[in-house]
Amino acid sequence: MKKHNFSAGPGILPQEVMEGAAKAVIELDNIGLSLIEISHRSTEFKAIMEEACYLALQLLGLEGKGYKAMYLQGGASLQFLMAAYNMLESKGGYVNSGTWSTKAIKEAKILGEVVELASSKDKNFNYIPKGYDIPTDLDYLHITTNNTIFGTQFKDIPQTDVPLVADMSSDIFSRPFDYSKFDLFYAGAQKNMGPAGVTLVVMKESAFNKVSRVVPSMMNYEAQANAGSMFNTPPVFAVYTVLLNLRWIAKNGGLAGVGTQNDKKAELIYNEIDRNPLFEGFANKEDRSNMNATFNLVDDAHSEIFDPLWNAANISGLKGHRSVGGYRASIYNAMPLASIQSLVDCMQEFEKKA
Ligand SMILES: *Cc1c(COP(=O)(O)O)cnc(C)c1O
Repeated sequence: MKKHNFSAGPGILPQEVMEGAAKAVIELDNIGLSLIEISHRSTEFKAIMEEACYLALQLLGLEGKGYKAMYLQGGASLQFLMAAYNMLESKGGYVNSGTWSTKAIKEAKILGEVVELASSKDKNFNYIPKGYDIPTDLDYLHITTNNTIFGTQFKDIPQTDVPLVADMSSDIFSRPFDYSKFDLFYAGAQKNMGPAGVTLVVMKESAFNKVSRVVPSMMNYEAQANAGSMFNTPPVFAVYTVLLNLRWIAKNGGLAGVGTQNDKKAELIYNEIDRNPLFEGFANKEDRSNMNATFNLVDDAHSEIFDPLWNAANISGLKGHRSVGGYRASIYNAMPLASIQSLVDCMQEFEKKA
């Protein structure tokens, strides 16, 4: 029996996406060959890559607005460095809202001056910093829109004329958002978009080639975009699975459709966290993520009662990251409301037993 999958990443995908991907591994669209044994330069795969780029931009509201979508390798972690390679000339500004921002800052420092404009480290990253000054002489301002580990999310995009760069690994395609405010954003696929092995990068064409350093071809956004994400062999299985998921999002009302569902799902879990006296939410209420709900037991010893309950209810992947402890319910696009209801039922049963 399929489990209720609350894994933070790689995370849940729609069942029909997995079935479509599995089918294509055996045979792609009745062509007599598998998806993973044909040339990436074949007509079939070229069409897959083109649709995956087009549909990503269309869902994000960026089609025809001077942006390029690329499917690259190396994960979001390589983008920490690659973003700086392509955009850091004199000074990059960063908001440090968690573990992934901290890593992005570390990588950018290899290439130039980095200013940490604000940080929420003082409270173990349980909030999104606000009210800091953004110098006008920055090459860019980098934010992490959703902090997967701590369960916080930017609700508003910082107001600035400085080019914006964002790591959107765990909340891309989860809500309507003004993506046109960004010059560059990236997302490892394995949270809310597809399987591990591919990273979506979206960049404004006018932001290409702004630095004086020589950027190696594989790290060069313009070279990658001009090559149609086929500068080298792309991860064909991951790209195809992402495409199936993008089609699923389109079919479910696009970002407005999944966003409405995600709001309902988040409300269900957070209402229970706030109502149930045995739990406390980890993240600041106004900064709560719609993708990763973090919460702790008021009395840690109660885990002996609560853990067997949700394990018996076929719930998987609920353990919090070690830097927060407690629990993390990752409720990505594909997570059904009914799975969250099963978790809420366990929390209520636990209240009666404890
Ligand atoms: C998981 C995650 C990363 C790291 O992604 P990789 O693809 O493993 O490099 C970076 N940023 C955020 C916000 C994440 O959730």
